[in-house]
Amino acid sequence: MTARGKDFVEELPGRHEEGWYAALIAKAELADYSPVRGCMVIRPYGFALWENMQALLDKRFKATGHRNAYFPIFVPESLLLREAEHVEGFSPQVAWVTEAGGEKLDERLAIRPTSEAIIGTMYSKWVQSWRDLPILINQWANVVRWEKRTMPFLRTTEFLWQEGHTAHRAADEAQEETMRMLEVYRDFVETELALPVIKGRKSEAEKFPGADATYTIEALMPGGRALQSGTSHFLGQNFARAFDISFQDLDGERRLAWTTSWGLSTRVIGATILEHGDDGGLVLPPRVAPVQVAILPIWGGKGADRGAVRDAAERLQRELSNTTRVEVDWSEEKQIGWKHNEWTLRGVPIRLELGPRDIASEQAILVRRDDPNIGRPEKRAVPWTSLAGTIGRTLEDAQSGLFKRALAAREAQTRISNTLDEFTQIMDGPRGFIRAHWCGAAVCEARIKEKTGATIRCLPLDEPAEEGTCIVDGRSSYARALFARAY
Ligand SMILES: [Zn+2]
Repeated sequence: MTARGKDFVEELPGRHEEGWYAALIAKAELADYSPVRGCMVIRPYGFALWENMQALLDKRFKATGHRNAYFPIFVPESLLLREAEHVEGFSPQVAWVTEAGGEKLDERLAIRPTSEAIIGTMYSKWVQSWRDLPILINQWANVVRWEKRTMPFLRTTEFLWQEGHTAHRAADEAQEETMRMLEVYRDFVETELALPVIKGRKSEAEKFPGADATYTIEALMPGGRALQSGTSHFLGQNFARAFDISFQDLDGERRLAWTTSWGLSTRVIGATILEHGDDGGLVLPPRVAPVQVAILPIWGGKGADRGAVRDAAERLQRELSNTTRVEVDWSEEKQIGWKHNEWTLRGVPIRLELGPRDIASEQAILVRRDDPNIGRPEKRAVPWTSLAGTIGRTLEDAQSGLFKRALAAREAQTRISNTLDEFTQIMDGPRGFIRAHWCGAAVCEARIKEKTGATIRCLPLDEPAEEGTCIVDGRSSYARALFARAY
């Protein structure tokens, strides 16, 4: 390893050291801090990751009958005030526009923290008859929620997301939609991001302001903290009543619609970084990696035939680009050790070395990013003729390997606790998920949060019924809730 290469790795703190996450985001050029406090700039490499995620999610939305639209970023105050619980929940985080065009506005405008109010207002116009239902719309947008403490991707004042908003004729249809989209999120996050999640319902205290019920997918990060990765809300008729989304039904009666909303944000980029990253930097799941294969030419010493290396690299790039996202590192001044470190840092799933000797034997040296031995990964010579097939299989294998590794880590970090003392010890120590009995009372939930910092992440949908007693007050409980400290 070259001196320069060594320095390069040493600059990144170890995976479990303070500062690893922030340093990695900066060095891998995913994002940068902006002049606006709490707002980040998503740099091209980070945005390419988001674009890949968007494409895979958007395909799923379209396949389940949704269409994209766009609504304004400004929400007049009078609209936001219409749903009382909703405005109460969001008002501490709303940024307001009070002046524009050199004049004070008659009515201040909220910069959307979410779009139920503006979209509900439009649905009220569009829905007149049962024939107008369902409405199945998604929007890709930015939202603003004023945050006191921020962390790139995980919690920022402005962030990117998608928000689906649907209106239905009947309650069971809206409930079905809520669960369908929760499953879309689970499938997306587990299949494409290799992040195992637990599906469940939020407690009353943790649900979306204005919803009848909120469902969530919860992931567990290596530091033992949970990360809410997507939510789907059954809004009942609360927003339909507030915004008058009503229709004439088959029997001539005027009825209120049933609505849902669901969202997933750039937070999942943070989850992907945290879950799979290691001492060397990012480890990106192949399905969303902006670059899946990096070809690293080794130019050889003085008098070596650089032209032959160049031709071979071009040829391989051309062949592989039909099936994979491939890039050649054409730089000539960097040593191979330095190049390895750089592509390791950027989390590219496969690196292919190509030097004069490899060209003579028509092969390339394949190195996997998910090899746990970062400093000395296994190097495998692959003949050019079988390269495309080998790469395809290796990418699949890396994708499923990351998921299995994350799942095993989560299982190892999931504990059962039957007393509040034991619960507290776990939260002061290794943290992780705790499955514990809870009677359903908000006061017990608040007591646990105050004493341990843990919240109910969800009431898991597949949690088996089990009689027990609440760890706070000993009252009856019929299933365990899932607790953790959260990001
Ligand atoms: Zn209790």
